[in-house]
Amino acid sequence: MPSPLLKRMKTLCSLPGPPGHEGAVRDAIVDMVKGSASELRRDDIGNLIARHEANEAAPHVVLECHMDEVGLVVTGVEAGGAIRFEKVGLVADAIFPGREVSLLTLDGNLHRGVVNVRSGHLQSLQGQEHPGVDEMWIDLGASDDAPIRALGIEAGTPGVFHSPFIQLPGGAWKSKAVDNRSGCALCVEAFINTANSLSDRLRLSAAFCAQEEIGGRGASVLSVDEGESDPPSLAIVLDNVPSDGPGRSDARGSKIGAGPVLRRYDHQPMSLYGYITPPELIQWVKDVASDTHVPLQEDVFVGTFLDSATLSKSRPGGLPTVPINMPRRYSHSPVETFMESDLEAMAALIGALLRSAAEGGAPDLRRDYLSPSDA
Ligand SMILES: [Zn+2]
Repeated sequence: MPSPLLKRMKTLCSLPGPPGHEGAVRDAIVDMVKGSASELRRDDIGNLIARHEANEAAPHVVLECHMDEVGLVVTGVEAGGAIRFEKVGLVADAIFPGREVSLLTLDGNLHRGVVNVRSGHLQSLQGQEHPGVDEMWIDLGASDDAPIRALGIEAGTPGVFHSPFIQLPGGAWKSKAVDNRSGCALCVEAFINTANSLSDRLRLSAAFCAQEEIGGRGASVLSVDEGESDPPSLAIVLDNVPSDGPGRSDARGSKIGAGPVLRRYDHQPMSLYGYITPPELIQWVKDVASDTHVPLQEDVFVGTFLDSATLSKSRPGGLPTVPINMPRRYSHSPVETFMESDLEAMAALIGALLRSAAEGGAPDLRRDYLSPSDA
């Protein structure tokens, strides 16, 4: 029997949410949290912020995740019916040939297509092909562009992979958009639980951000305290981390089934985005995980970034941020594969961290050297 958490994740994974077009995911999250929220608003960039009634004097924590997923964008429709596209987010070209994709038009409808792949017969005769996306197209089964244009598909139309959420015989689950509907489902669960049990001791802002996959754009402008005087003192970012598969160890050592992964350092040299987690926050998470017997992995990842890169500098003076990731195999593909035990361990760790923050256990990084607070 799937848990309510896994069921919510399945619902969210099935929805399309390419960067800048997160509306379907946002609407589903609104439905999930509105019964527990006293404030629920969308900002101009598309972030969704949920807050609940809370004691004004309680610590204010932001729990953040991104709603968007990697995918593609249409660059043009040719007269013969070939739909040309570019990748959106860090996706390998090799993922695309022979895949099913869904194009999302402005009316909210999804249109299934397939990406071309050269005939296996010809590849055996003429050599294997490793095409770039500039040699690919999406085929909607049409022989000219008229029916495609009639659907509203044009340059700028976004698309996502099509890949159902199913359990594999070995126990793990696979879907598209595990990154980051797992984070969304966890954020929803933590928000509902906090509203029910911790609201007299903790102010929680649950933030579901837009456009992470193209550079943490939503998180870079996140405002959780408009017109109020209770700035957050801590943010916890929930996302995913590449994990090794059974056939090859090509991630950074993280394993599925071995628990949440605390990100200590990341940096993507191309974009210069990255984040160095403060040692005090690393120690706090390790202590809480140990006290609550949640298994914890740690990683350093050069070549990527998370919303922590931008959320941490979204406030004057900075916002202390700690990223916690769920491991999954085959990242940024239609077959992202994860263990339910890791999802549950993430939920247990988040719950324990929020209880610790409510009890004043989270480290405060600010100092006034002339007026020490313990003087
Ligand atoms: Zn992500």
